[in-house]
Amino acid sequence: MFFWKKEKKIEQARLPELSSININGIDFQIRIERIKKRHSSAFFRKNEIIIRLPRHIDAIHEKESKEKLLEWAKKNILKNFDAIKKQKEKESLFEQGGKIAVLGKEFDLIIEKANKKNTFKLIKEKNTRENANSEKLILLAKCFDKVNKKKLLQFIRKKFEKEFIEKVNLINDRYFHEKIGEIKIGFASKRLGSCNKSKRKLMFSINLFLMPEIAINYVIAHELEHFSQMNHSRFFWSELEQKFPSYKEGKAWLKSNKTSLF
Ligand SMILES: [Zn+2]
Repeated sequence: MFFWKKEKKIEQARLPELSSININGIDFQIRIERIKKRHSSAFFRKNEIIIRLPRHIDAIHEKESKEKLLEWAKKNILKNFDAIKKQKEKESLFEQGGKIAVLGKEFDLIIEKANKKNTFKLIKEKNTRENANSEKLILLAKCFDKVNKKKLLQFIRKKFEKEFIEKVNLINDRYFHEKIGEIKIGFASKRLGSCNKSKRKLMFSINLFLMPEIAINYVIAHELEHFSQMNHSRFFWSELEQKFPSYKEGKAWLKSNKTSLF
């Protein structure tokens, strides 16, 4: 018992080690984590290279492991450099603002410094110069430093949920004719959609809202098809092709942009 208490104290006293490395002009944070396991490992997450070392490793082995794993990480980053660069550019959107598409419509995301509370606003501005009838859509974010992505996504859900649900119903009425019980929008980062056949429930990720229309339509059609086929069999795809032939474009877009998804 006493031993465990002592162990805990040591662990707390050790602060996380952090430094960074520049690869082809991009900075990557290096985070060292201490683990209970015997073997060291490394992986890549967002802007960080995470190196996991056993808690009781000695100094010589620690240096050796760190160097070896960092070399491995560098090699992998260079191999996937284009995708990583694209992802970085997307992230800078939340710091400096830029163009952002919501349900296939383009917005200017403008970030203004705020003193206290973060707020979001949707502004429709008449485009007087080029075309008197066209509208410029502005997403104004008042923030401390950079946009809190989760807060922005919550705001986007509030403002665009109704339009999205209408879209799902429209695609269903036109091509699928299924009975839908409920449509929910969640914050899953990887899974863009899911279907619960017995509850007649569809779930979509808010991240889907930021993708091009072809991808949005494909994911909607894909989930609607699951009411008929709860698997990805040949029959699923041939039936989807019959009902919604343009699904292929969206599927291809998702495949080629997998690495740059939020
Ligand atoms: Zn599926």
